[in-house]
Amino acid sequence: MSFAPMLESDVTSWSGESDVVVVGFGGAGACAAIAAADEGASVMIVEAASASGGSTALSSAEIYLGGGTKIQKAVGYEDSVEDVFGYLMASNGPQADASKVRAYAEGGAEHLDWLMSLGVPFKASELKERAMMALTDDCLLYTGSEKAWPYCEQYKPAPRGHNLEVEGDNGGPLLTKILLQQVEQRGIDIHYETRALRLIVSCHGPQQRIVGLAVRQNMQEHYFRAGRGVVLCAGGFIMNEDMVREYCPQFLDNKTQIGNPNDTGTGIQMGLSVGGRVINMHEGFLSLPFYPPATLTFGIFVNGQGQRFINEDAYHGRIGSFLVNQSYPVYLILNVEDYGNYETESWLQAPVVATGESLEELVSELDLPTGQLERTIERFNEDVSERVDRLFHKDISWLKTLEAPFVALDCTPGAGAFFPCFTLGGLDTTVDGAVRSVHEGVIPGLYAAGRTACGVPRRGDGYASGSSVGDATFSGRMAGRSVAVEESL
Ligand SMILES: Cc1cc2nc3c(=O)[nH]c(=O)nc-3n(C[C@H](O)[C@H](O)[C@H](O)COP(=O)(O)OP(=O)(O)OC[C@H]3O[C@@H](n4cnc5c(N)ncnc54)[C@H](O)[C@@H]3O)c2cc1C
Repeated sequence: MSFAPMLESDVTSWSGESDVVVVGFGGAGACAAIAAADEGASVMIVEAASASGGSTALSSAEIYLGGGTKIQKAVGYEDSVEDVFGYLMASNGPQADASKVRAYAEGGAEHLDWLMSLGVPFKASELKERAMMALTDDCLLYTGSEKAWPYCEQYKPAPRGHNLEVEGDNGGPLLTKILLQQVEQRGIDIHYETRALRLIVSCHGPQQRIVGLAVRQNMQEHYFRAGRGVVLCAGGFIMNEDMVREYCPQFLDNKTQIGNPNDTGTGIQMGLSVGGRVINMHEGFLSLPFYPPATLTFGIFVNGQGQRFINEDAYHGRIGSFLVNQSYPVYLILNVEDYGNYETESWLQAPVVATGESLEELVSELDLPTGQLERTIERFNEDVSERVDRLFHKDISWLKTLEAPFVALDCTPGAGAFFPCFTLGGLDTTVDGAVRSVHEGVIPGLYAAGRTACGVPRRGDGYASGSSVGDATFSGRMAGRSVAVEESL
């Protein structure tokens, strides 16, 4: 499929016009549209699906925000902008964008207020156990590696995952419903079953400006004029096998690509077609969702050398990202008592590969070099007795002697364990959402947000749950505000 832009002079007739045309009606698109309309712009949304929501609707809609949100304060947590900034800069590594992280840290509390002002409900409560998501209507939970080494030594931890006030894993549907109501209340023109095909440009070359969008609607091509600009909010590209193979092939074999079927990177392709720059295309979220039950954290992961490679109290995405780079097989070794409700509570799906009434029996059923696991467990148990994990700094609250009877789960990719993933690369944008050009400056009239852009979350090993919906809604708002005040054509 060609995404080559179309010249304005080739448009024979316009089917509609608004100040702002938003491509995609997920979390980022909804927030861009609301923010642009609230700035006084006329707004149109084109959405390929027959309903709003995209991957945002499929998600738990945990939202990662901090720096002293209303809920953090009500529950009794002091969280500072500097701790949020420091944590996000460190966890996103060398590719972190300091200006975006700064805006997100400074604007976190206000963004939650904004969502609440739209009617998104959050309860002043906390889910204390280590969980992947809250299945109760409680709000705050730790969703990253804030309490784990190395971050806990550098930045004061605070729970920043904000779960909507809704029972079950229903945050995404509820957020989508509320954002839809808000869009409809503003009289925003919504076109469902309308696929964005190509951008329309004023001319080719350095004077180029984005002036509209070509779409396919009801088997016909139509052209919509955008007086101030187009905002690309079409999600990421995890469902486009060719793009994944080209940019991040590590997310193909034995991984589960999660998202909606339109996560095919068309927003990114349209941006590229007019000279937009893409960055960080090799990165993505890649998890091994091994808790609940939280008691599995008492176990140790060992690689094909029978050696530990990480502190097991780190976030499941950090562990997944480290795990796939180990020598295989990779096992999680546990005391049977900590196996707990694995069979009924877990999402992990890793099969039991061995059990043992003694360490010798366990080892005889595993494919590891002779003597290695025995040494690893002996060393770990010495550390437990001294209340310090000298190798990987697992917090003492998770240190427990490993002793028979044992069970081992096979977490080797391909053996059955669930490795969900989605992409974190996209169009390079300014903090206001303007798409940067491969040459210099930005592309006039073109904005991007959510997973179509490369936002705050940039690394699988530093990801925190909630930072994608958090970033999508935040960056959508920024882009909507900015495009609304662009000079009109
Ligand atoms: C099961 C699951 C759970 C998750 N849980 C969380 C979580 O709790 N917290 C978190 O932060 N992240 C979570 N994520 C990730 C997060 O949901 C997404 O990364 C985020 O919602 C993306 O938002 P977006 O607005 O960029 O894209 P989307 O919400 O996917 O919206 C993009 C929209 O664009 C439309 N579109 C695409 N191409 C076109 C086109 N050419 N023309 C017109 N329309 C088009 C799509 O149909 C879609 O509606 C989860 C993801 C999944 C799949």
